[in-house]
Amino acid sequence: MAKHLFVTGGVVSSLGKGLTCASIGMLLEQRGLRVRLQKFDPYINVDPGTMSPYQHGEVYVLDDGAETDLDLGHYERFTQAVLTRDCNYTTGKIYLSVIQKEREGRYYEGKTVQVIPHVTDEIKAAIHRLAEDDVDVVITEIGGTVGDIEGQPFLEAIRQFAMDVGRENCLFIHLTLVPYLKAAGELKTKPTQHSVGMLRQIGIQPDVLICRSEHPISPEDKDKIALFCNVDRKAVIEERDRQYSIYEVPLSLANNGLDEILVKQLKLKAAPLDLAGWSEMVDRIIHPKHEARIAVVGKYMKHRDAYKSVYEALDHAGIANRARVLLVRVEAEEVDNRGAEALLDGVDGVLVPGGFGMRGIEGKIEAIRYARTHKIPYFGICLGMQCAVIEFARSVLGLEDANSTEFDPTAEHPVICLMEEQQMVRERGGTMRLGSWPCALAGGSRAEHAYGAPLIHERHRHRYELNNAYRNTFAQHGLHPSGLSPDGSIVEIMELQDHPWFVAVQFHPEFKSKPMKAHPLFRDFVAAALARRESTRLGHER
Ligand code: GLN
Repeated sequence: MAKHLFVTGGVVSSLGKGLTCASIGMLLEQRGLRVRLQKFDPYINVDPGTMSPYQHGEVYVLDDGAETDLDLGHYERFTQAVLTRDCNYTTGKIYLSVIQKEREGRYYEGKTVQVIPHVTDEIKAAIHRLAEDDVDVVITEIGGTVGDIEGQPFLEAIRQFAMDVGRENCLFIHLTLVPYLKAAGELKTKPTQHSVGMLRQIGIQPDVLICRSEHPISPEDKDKIALFCNVDRKAVIEERDRQYSIYEVPLSLANNGLDEILVKQLKLKAAPLDLAGWSEMVDRIIHPKHEARIAVVGKYMKHRDAYKSVYEALDHAGIANRARVLLVRVEAEEVDNRGAEALLDGVDGVLVPGGFGMRGIEGKIEAIRYARTHKIPYFGICLGMQCAVIEFARSVLGLEDANSTEFDPTAEHPVICLMEEQQMVRERGGTMRLGSWPCALAGGSRAEHAYGAPLIHERHRHRYELNNAYRNTFAQHGLHPSGLSPDGSIVEIMELQDHPWFVAVQFHPEFKSKPMKAHPLFRDFVAAALARRESTRLGHER
């Protein structure tokens, strides 16, 4: 029978609960255990697919096409666990299912449908579902902060769940903040006491406390936390802010003995911890040999999490190339206002990520023109591919009015158009072309060189595509479709021939990159950027 780890958060949001869960999953895997991870989000949207990146950050897409919370990206980057749409539930998704059952009239036998037991049963069923396959530990993260009204059904459900399967098969981990008060010159444990108090009020006694802190927590403070929170002293774990990278988090948790506590308390049969490979990877982050400046030109540049997986994948590419990737965040509208030269001079690579809507489009196109004409490596992702196509059509094919019908429905040259399968779609949630689709690569292309395979699978999230009426004209002028859906109907990759590295893809490669296995396209893009930097340096020296 699988054991269960429940992770709650207290005091404030944004403590890095997702990262902590991912790190725990990774540590357990490195002890030879099979884990699965799941997140409950208390908001009422059915999924984050319809939310603005300002609200929610990136929407993370899974192989099965589920549009999920970005914490699932951490889960996938840190572990080998398989993630599916069963790994992310919101209040909306739970209620939707309860309400559908009620409307069908078969399930509730005429009873009054209530939060307890019907909603909590639905939540518990979701937890059980993850424990069905071969798995040793299921890690369930409860989004939000203890005390939030919306989170209550989830907390009540996990309390009941532990009663159902036996308290000895469950472990409650509470992540809190131990703030430092400058004026008093000390760390404060009271917020932690209060938030644990709140958990205990609803019947959950945490077994482990992970305390986020900017400063070391003294043994005395740990004693105090243990005493007031009724937690074993050894189970008060410090999680200090990391200096270089999020990938240090599991190492620091292991140093503080977390994996051993979990294994002991849950009586798991586990192998000794093996962190050699991971430590070597972190060492590469801390001691890079090269440096590349990569401009990301997008429209949510001020939001730290809007292009989360893209930033992570760039870091992974840096690790693979033993380089530090210096991110140059460029607001697309600024390019339109101030010109590309002012913002992109001196960068070694340009990346335009995915996106929706008109704002910033002309700036993105301008940035791509700059990269194309200055022979700066360019990597276009989804909208970044569509913009590259528009730019090429306007500048090289001379089709001044070229556009995507997303931005100009009456464009004379709709080089990007709505996919046929999307023509009749009216509803918004979960209706794009989503999830993993195969793509056949052209022999001799940069893409094939990167992947080292003729057929690949990548994740998608889009409504528009390259208009096939223009496919040949593009190819004749040097912008080649180098990746196609196996039946040849959808262009998935465009590559510019006469350029050091110009690859634009309709899919989202960033979702499949991992720190120890950088995505091949990101890896080669950063390698091309490093090569360019090196040759400009030699050029200057000459
Ligand atoms: N808006 C474009 C489309 O729907 C691009 C989507 C994206 O970049 N994810 O096709």
